[in-house]
Amino acid sequence: MLPHQSFTKAPGQRDNVIDGRAIAAQIQRELAQRVAELGQRGLTPGLAFVRVGEDAASKVYVGRKEKACAELGLFSETHVLPEATSEAELLGLISKLNSDPRQHGILVQAPLPRQIRESKIYSAVLPEKDVDGFHPFNVGKLMLGDATGFRPCTPAGVVELLARSGVKTEGAEVVVLGRGNIVGKPMAAMLCQKGAGANATVTICHSATRDLPAHCRRADIIVAAMGVAEFLKADMVKPGVVVMDVGVNRVPDPTAKSGTKLVGDVDFKNVQPIAGKITPNPGGVGPMTIAMLMQNTVRAAEMTLNSQPSTKN
Ligand code: NAP
Repeated sequence: MLPHQSFTKAPGQRDNVIDGRAIAAQIQRELAQRVAELGQRGLTPGLAFVRVGEDAASKVYVGRKEKACAELGLFSETHVLPEATSEAELLGLISKLNSDPRQHGILVQAPLPRQIRESKIYSAVLPEKDVDGFHPFNVGKLMLGDATGFRPCTPAGVVELLARSGVKTEGAEVVVLGRGNIVGKPMAAMLCQKGAGANATVTICHSATRDLPAHCRRADIIVAAMGVAEFLKADMVKPGVVVMDVGVNRVPDPTAKSGTKLVGDVDFKNVQPIAGKITPNPGGVGPMTIAMLMQNTVRAAEMTLNSQPSTKN
């Protein structure tokens, strides 16, 4: 743990849990003010969702994001295309949305069917409407530390959670578990930047990492984004560690009506008593992903009114 951080709680105490839902709600309230100001200037931020096929999880995710738009007073429109849609057809829709002035953001929900290359689709969205932060132009800006780009929502949500929970990242040893393009890599890029809310020493671990537990044991902050149910165990962390659990894993649960339940990448029950701070899962990082999507969309709308690129979050 960093010398200037003292979060450790007695075993069993639960007030070290970071309430992602409450923090996301606070961000939504802040955004509501910005949406009202845009409304006074005759502008309603708009977000287009594109879903291809009938993936059950995608339906749930898009549904939650639509609900967040409605609550915030954003204009949203969902385009559902059949599973057999070709890459050219999807590119055609993206092109239309790129030139639709009502839409300030475009979100193409992953996963896409096999015949469609995600990289082609992400590159086709106009960078100024790329509220997911997946376009190579925005990925490049993130690497360069250029705040005018859009940052991917999930790692941006983790950064915001850390900041709003009073966790100091400056000089901290951060271990990111997973090097995926959506979470792990951008997470590492954000936390190693020079500047406030970052400035950490970041290690990325993956399937070829030698002695992954040893890396975790020396970490002040661990971001778990592997997609392996309850991977991070109590004997892999040091007392006072801050744990951010990004993973979403469905596991069997005979007590649940559906027969399954969602768990994260962290063995929460056993890690929580040792941690300085920890996100629950669900209820931690997930709600922040949506809040950051709303934030990026509001910013995209604001940027259409300003000639200068905005660095506002
Ligand atoms: P991904 O692209 O599949 O990346 C997973 C990473 O974990 C890979 O780098 C992989 O290593 C590593 N990994 C997997 N098993 C490992 C093991 N046993 N030991 C060491 N490394 C291992 O996944 P992603 O898209 O980044 O997503 C990660 C998780 O976050 C998933 O559970 C996803 O559902 C969740 N997620 C949550 C949200 C949210 O809003 N809460 C948003 C996005 C994603 P290799 O590279 O070596 O294969």
